[in-house]
Amino acid sequence: MAAQLIDGKALAAAVRASLAPAVAALAARGAQPGLAAILVGDDLASRVYVRNKVRACEETGVRSELHEFAAQVTEQALLERIAALNRDPRVHGILVQLPLPGHVDAERVLGAVSETKDVDGFHAANLGALLRGAPRFVPCTPAGVLRLIEHAGVPLAGRHAVIIGRSSIVGKPLALLLLQKDATVTICHSRTAHLAELARQADVLVAATGRPGMVGAEMVKPGACVIDVGTSRTVEGKLRGDVDFAAVQEVAGWITPVPGGVGPMTVAMLVANTVRATELSLA
Ligand code: NDP
Repeated sequence: MAAQLIDGKALAAAVRASLAPAVAALAARGAQPGLAAILVGDDLASRVYVRNKVRACEETGVRSELHEFAAQVTEQALLERIAALNRDPRVHGILVQLPLPGHVDAERVLGAVSETKDVDGFHAANLGALLRGAPRFVPCTPAGVLRLIEHAGVPLAGRHAVIIGRSSIVGKPLALLLLQKDATVTICHSRTAHLAELARQADVLVAATGRPGMVGAEMVKPGACVIDVGTSRTVEGKLRGDVDFAAVQEVAGWITPVPGGVGPMTVAMLVANTVRATELSLA
């Protein structure tokens, strides 16, 4: 039997719509949420991501401003712009689109964003708060993944969640969120032995590797919930996930598509974090 499709595009639209009362309440207090996006270089994928984020902001009544820099920009120039944005009362959220060029220390740049405007949730203080179970901003992709799982009604407490990928922006924070939901969590990576065997034990399997099609039907327990975070471009420019969708949908209980799964939810959670940052700035 084919898996139930979890529609991230529809859920993202619902999340954005659900923010309208909060945006209206802020307007009544004379505040409009504002997001500043920093884009360095001319990587096409980064450009598309930032464009989607700016568009989602506009649709939700969030003001956005784009700060573009050439790939050769100095780290100092980026730090100075971030310092100015940290001081700007009209800016409530600051997003630095990754990846940054190799000569720029990404850790230092991300760490320069005020933790109160860190709507991506990458600042060490916010990651630390997440670790302690009292997050201010949850990183957008893991937050979106959790919303997709909960929206589908997939139980987490006592279930085994297996995450393939251990980055600081997806795998690790997602593991913390799933732990908070009482799942038993296994994190896998490129050095994991017996990956397929572990994956097959998962009630919830999340793939976040950037290796197109690496999760096949033989890695999925019948009835499992499969969330595909991966996004890679084929030579024809088509977006592909980490999961072999056609094969896995025959085995899984639930599955997210690429595109139209985690991607739109990441954007929606960024808008939600920006609205929250605005509320916190008035508290
Ligand atoms: P990273 O490259 O930082 O991390 C990839 C992870 O996958 C690493 O932990 C790596 O292991 C692991 N990995 C790679 N190959 C294998 C393998 N063959 N078997 C097991 N594990 C493997 O990527 P990100 O976390 O930043 O992103 C992952 C994917 O998610 C990318 O495709 C990215 O484009 C996508 N993404 C999508 C978003 C969205 O909104 N839809 C948002 C963010 C990311 P090791 O640590 O050992 O190297």
